[in-house]
Amino acid sequence: MAGETARVQAPSGRLLWSYFLKSTGLLHVLRRKHDSCRFARVLLYHHVPDNGAESFDRHLRHLAENYTVLPLRDLLAALKAGSLPRRAVAITFDDGFLSVYENAAPALKRYGFSATLFVTTDFAGIRDKGQARAFCISNFKRRDGLENMTWEQLRELSDWGFEIGSHTGTHPVLSEIRDSSTLGEEILGSRKILEREIGTEVSAFSFPFGSGKDCDARVLSVVREAGYTSCFSGIRGWNDRNTNPYYFFRDPIDPLWPVEVLEMFLSGGGDWWGKIPR
Ligand SMILES: [Zn+2]
Repeated sequence: MAGETARVQAPSGRLLWSYFLKSTGLLHVLRRKHDSCRFARVLLYHHVPDNGAESFDRHLRHLAENYTVLPLRDLLAALKAGSLPRRAVAITFDDGFLSVYENAAPALKRYGFSATLFVTTDFAGIRDKGQARAFCISNFKRRDGLENMTWEQLRELSDWGFEIGSHTGTHPVLSEIRDSSTLGEEILGSRKILEREIGTEVSAFSFPFGSGKDCDARVLSVVREAGYTSCFSGIRGWNDRNTNPYYFFRDPIDPLWPVEVLEMFLSGGGDWWGKIPR
């Protein structure tokens, strides 16, 4: 009997939160904010596994039907100019996993969407599958040991119109680096490598792990001095004209989540979660 009960899966906390927002009408209030042309959201994906390709496709369909998806660069320009379209969203990926090339990019292309790929340069340079998996476990702190996109694949995506940004050289917690030359190597060094390998200007940066404690004012001043014009966290929130361009908010999204959960975060329903002062 106990076994029977255990087989019935309880809805996740996030799903319950989504039902709560809908049933209380809070979602409607939050959505009104998103309907405004003054706010933009940026989605942060990492890995799209083979068994998540269909679910990811549903995310993209939902975005195509309900949002204005822009390349990140265009979204930032529109934000600055005060000419954002209604419900503006940009899509980004961090780290540089092979599944982005294999599963995400073809789906994005089908919908005519572009994305910004924040690449960890030491990972992109690995040729051996075993080494890539070991790097993934040790440097990204992921147990699944994923493979990397190669420079050739990144150049191909860049040629398709995807923007390439930097996500450091080795994916460290930048705020823990005391030595300024190491910090420079991670931030400026990775930009130079990307510009050499991809052949385009690199102006966007996202800092590893993405939470408030992973980045500080000292790190951001190095990011600014290295010539980047924008920097992205992994902290949920609305971006508007007053958002610090070196601390843009992004919504971490799992491609396996149901569309209702994606919508909850797009509507600002999860902004209480990990939000810190600007
Ligand atoms: Zn990362």
